[in-house]
Amino acid sequence: ASPASGSAGNSEEGARMNPYAGLVSGLRAAWLSGKTRPMEYRVAQLEALGRFLDEKNQDILDVLASDMRKPPFEVEISEISICRSELNHALNNLGTWMKDEHVEKNWVTQLDSAFIRKDPYGVVLIIGPWNYPINLLLVPLIGAIAAGNCVIMKPSEISKAVEKLVAEMLPNYLDKDCFAVVTAGVEETNKLLENKFDYIFFTGSPSVGRIIMTAAAKHLTPVTLELGGKNPCYVSDNCEVQNVARRVAWGRFFNAGQTCVAPDYVLCSVEMREKLLPALREAITEFYGLNPQESPDFARIVGDKQFQRAQALLSSGRVAIGGQTDEKERYIAPTVLVDVRPEDPAMQEEIFGPILPILTVANVDEAIAFINARERPLALYAFSSCKKVLRRVLEQTSSGGFCANDTMMQMTLTSLPFGGIGHSGLGHYHGRFTFETFSHPRSALLRSAGRESLNNVRYPPYASRRLPL
Ligand code: NAD
Repeated sequence: ASPASGSAGNSEEGARMNPYAGLVSGLRAAWLSGKTRPMEYRVAQLEALGRFLDEKNQDILDVLASDMRKPPFEVEISEISICRSELNHALNNLGTWMKDEHVEKNWVTQLDSAFIRKDPYGVVLIIGPWNYPINLLLVPLIGAIAAGNCVIMKPSEISKAVEKLVAEMLPNYLDKDCFAVVTAGVEETNKLLENKFDYIFFTGSPSVGRIIMTAAAKHLTPVTLELGGKNPCYVSDNCEVQNVARRVAWGRFFNAGQTCVAPDYVLCSVEMREKLLPALREAITEFYGLNPQESPDFARIVGDKQFQRAQALLSSGRVAIGGQTDEKERYIAPTVLVDVRPEDPAMQEEIFGPILPILTVANVDEAIAFINARERPLALYAFSSCKKVLRRVLEQTSSGGFCANDTMMQMTLTSLPFGGIGHSGLGHYHGRFTFETFSHPRSALLRSAGRESLNNVRYPPYASRRLPL
């Protein structure tokens, strides 16, 4: 781990205590200079980020293959093209987003100008996870640049090859006075967090989210926390089981299950489970062949620790499909578990691997009660051909996002805010929402300097004053 280039000289002791102080104060000076405010500057930096994506396309595919054997097509659709479309969306709309928003006035301010200015926060910190390490670092970055901020990025140290690429290559494209990448493990990240930032955008686990929020509280720094959790997937009796199986299997086994919005477990009736199991087996074979270990389209678990954690969950209930593992390759076969009890390990934590427990419930009421008895999830899925059932699940539960009759597809719309609620996070982003996340809605009232007689009404002595009705 190393402080990023650009840190100014400190005393030796000071540098040891806070190795990032120079870097942060350098970026703060750049921000105070006003350099990042003009639209042309923001556009130039966004375009440079676009060049990074174009010119390093193959490198991005390579580093993700090296970290977790991520299939190139999955990299294209879940990392590169999402960044590309967010970037184009920001470039196409920045002028509109940046405009002052004039607001209604009262009778005393009729002659004045009142508006909301989308002010940059200043120096912001973006901390990313390892599972979509390009997307989850660069999509917030796009909004932070668009909103006129200076940014320190801290990619995950777990996806090592991506971290190296981002640290070595990305700064060559951006203005080094205003944008820096810090490579840091847990200890150094905590040192980084001792510094005062104007906004912190964190994506990762709920337990680390708590650490981030505590560190931010010391400086009263606002945060966005994009966290995880267990996303329920209710499957009602009346649905097209083959379609359900394909859509659930795709969401669960994409990126070998290491997706924050993956369906974490299925809730359905015993009858539906008996139909779903053969359909899921068929979908898995259709997607990955008879031996998924040989499929070029199935990723690996990112590290040994993560592999061992996920593998341990296979002892919950009974393996109905898959279950094979290969520690050398950090391979876990697409797996379906049945007879899992709510108190089993697989139901105590986010699975974050290619393992899908199916739990049975008698009906939709029981499914809703099961969901509401747990922490509020990032995503909630419901499958049914009956609109009434879908509406009931939507209206009687709470979650960051909801998608009916599919999984993960809610993420593809830049027009929908993406974020959690309760344990699954705080704040939201994507599209215009990312720009708004990184902008302070600053209220501005520009009063007319004359017409003092109109003001007399509010000055003391008050004895003869009457408020107009
Ligand atoms: P993590 O919380 O372990 O790590 C995330 C980041 O925090 C990394 O950069 C890491 O270096 C840093 N970090 C780790 N421990 C720290 C500590 N003690 N103090 C300070 N910083 C620390 O998460 P992860 O394992 O990288 O990612 C998996 C989690 O992220 C899952 O829970 C998943 O659901 C969640 N996630 C959420 C979203 C979302 O958009 N809501 C997206 C992807 C992943």
